[in-house]
Amino acid sequence: MFVGQKIGPFNVEKELGSGAMGTVYRARYDKDGKERTVAIKIIALGLLGNEGAMARFEREANILKQLRHPHIVRLFATGKYKNTPFIAMEFVDGEPLDRILSRRGRLGWEEAVAYAKQLCEALQYAHDKGIIHRDLKPSNLMITPDGILKLTDFGIAKDTDVTALTGANSTIGTAAYMSPEQCKGDKNLSNKSDLYSLGIVMYELITGKKPFVSDTTIDMFLKHVHEIPPRPSRFIADVPVWLDNMIMFLIEKDKDKRPMDADTVRKMLEDIEEKVQNLQSAGEEVANARRMDRPMNGGALDADDLAAARSMKAAKSGKKTKKKKSKPLLTRTWVRALPLVLGLFALIGGAYYVLKPPSQSDFYKRVEIAGTPDDRITMARKYLDSYGSQTDEDTLKVKELYRRALGEKLQAVLELRFRKAKITTAMDDEDGDAFKAAWSAMEAEQKGELSTASALWGKVKSRAPEAKDKYTEGWAWLAEHRASEIKKVDLQASILKEELLRSEINEVAWKYDPLAPEWIVKRAIRLGAAGGLPPPPGAQDSDRKLPARIVDKAKVRKTWGMLADLTKDKSEHHVWYMLAVRERDGLKDIATEEAVATRKKIFADQLAGLKIEWQRVVGDSEARAEKRDCRNRCRDLIELYDDETDDQIKKEVDAVKLLFSEMNTPKGN
Ligand code: ADP
Ligand code: MG
Repeated sequence: MFVGQKIGPFNVEKELGSGAMGTVYRARYDKDGKERTVAIKIIALGLLGNEGAMARFEREANILKQLRHPHIVRLFATGKYKNTPFIAMEFVDGEPLDRILSRRGRLGWEEAVAYAKQLCEALQYAHDKGIIHRDLKPSNLMITPDGILKLTDFGIAKDTDVTALTGANSTIGTAAYMSPEQCKGDKNLSNKSDLYSLGIVMYELITGKKPFVSDTTIDMFLKHVHEIPPRPSRFIADVPVWLDNMIMFLIEKDKDKRPMDADTVRKMLEDIEEKVQNLQSAGEEVANARRMDRPMNGGALDADDLAAARSMKAAKSGKKTKKKKSKPLLTRTWVRALPLVLGLFALIGGAYYVLKPPSQSDFYKRVEIAGTPDDRITMARKYLDSYGSQTDEDTLKVKELYRRALGEKLQAVLELRFRKAKITTAMDDEDGDAFKAAWSAMEAEQKGELSTASALWGKVKSRAPEAKDKYTEGWAWLAEHRASEIKKVDLQASILKEELLRSEINEVAWKYDPLAPEWIVKRAIRLGAAGGLPPPPGAQDSDRKLPARIVDKAKVRKTWGMLADLTKDKSEHHVWYMLAVRERDGLKDIATEEAVATRKKIFADQLAGLKIEWQRVVGDSEARAEKRDCRNRCRDLIELYDDETDDQIKKEVDAVKLLFSEMNTPKGN
């Protein structure tokens, strides 16, 4: 319906297709006299109906604009056209995989693997930036005529999928690829969620079937959570066993059991390709050997034999050469027997590959990709039994992984006892002194007494001076790990402080996410810039300090408290937890009434002061820094008080907003 119209600077030419979120068009765009083709996606009305969702959509899009990768469709811009949001992205001259699938039924496993490897590169790149795709499915994978894969629709669905799921039936398509944790509504998705969807996509590409089929979304969710589908090899006989395993590994229900990351998956896929190649060259050797065995009739090589060997070689390298068809070849007994011989050989070869003891490097990989500490301990112990005396890089790494897995297991046990079971004494077979010291260290961490905690972990470490057995190794790792986390507390906070400082200077708009520890830390720091946190690394001169403009201790304390609640019992956020507790408990608890009164006074003072200061500097073209400071003072009041419920304060915030927009409107026009 937009064809022929102009949307912003874009001339819409043609509809490309539509999906759950809207319709995609090809459009032309004139940039400095150069014509460019882009794809415009117009978001279906209703999906982004409310202000909040729109703001989140834009925020998300801003992050996505930074993704630049050969296998990710570039996002150029977002905008609104008559109140309808749209995005402009790289136009891909190709076909989405869902259409390819419906045309061809299924793909050969080699082709599927070739796409999966490219997809893994894209995923690893995004995951490294902390961005999860969330909506991986064949229609979001575009394939160009030369076989290049481009991943599209990154994360955009994040805030819209809930709305979408309650409505359009087209979302059944999306539900088919969702991870169990996504189905359960987990808000904190990890890279593992994308890996699950990758597994489902690979399953479908190779077998031509989705592992789960269902009429309703709810039923689909239940299947993701509970049902284990048949292996791909049940449908397609030629899938290599390793690939079969790999896919099942990706679609593990428990995310901890899936491969570590996309890069690991890519390496495993390469490995599979290599193994299959080896098998095939074994097949080729049979063909060659057979030729040598034959009596050399007059010494001349039979043309048919040559053709047979050639086609074998071609099969190995994957190149498609024209097979010369010659009747007599098929009539020869040995040729007729060849498939049988080859089949037998492949069987023996296959069995050999499955049964032979793994090589050191295979073994290493198994340790590396083990999903749980327990698996890793078992695998590593087996590895070390065979190769423990070696000093190569892999072996050293295995030793480190082993030590870490022991420590992680110990940590999990201790945490469980500390937080849930409250078992305060060591078990008979445990080192009582180490246990006691660790317990006290955890208590100190919880009280925010970090230097005490650090000293106590030192004591734990001294109980395990040498890595003698698995027991002391675990303790040693744990003690080192916890001490290093304590060291990170101030370091991590100061890095965020540095970021804040930079965004003050550049006047970057605030992007806040109440579920991301980093953002809560930033908020607390900004609110209490006068607080006790150390200056950013490398900061010497005082003007690199964040200026303390508002000192709202009650709000600072509340913010650290929020962070403590969010990060409690989450070992991946333990550093933030320790920071939150220390900072929160360092501040006096202030009664709400008193806090609100203080806040009102802060606003009254700030607003009056700002107006005077702005009048003083507004006409002075030299006073750039002063003006910036005024604007930043406004930003503090607007951005840090966006969560207030008191009516008067809300009004004050509006007054500041008005002043701020005045400051941003150039005078004299
Ligand atoms: P879906 O939910 O099926 O992914 P989309 O709205 O994302 O639906 O896309 C609809 C169709 O538009 C796709 O199937 C594809 O054919 C086409 N399309 C999407 N993005 C692009 C692009 N960047 N370049 C070219 N075609 C695209
Ligand atoms: Mg799409």
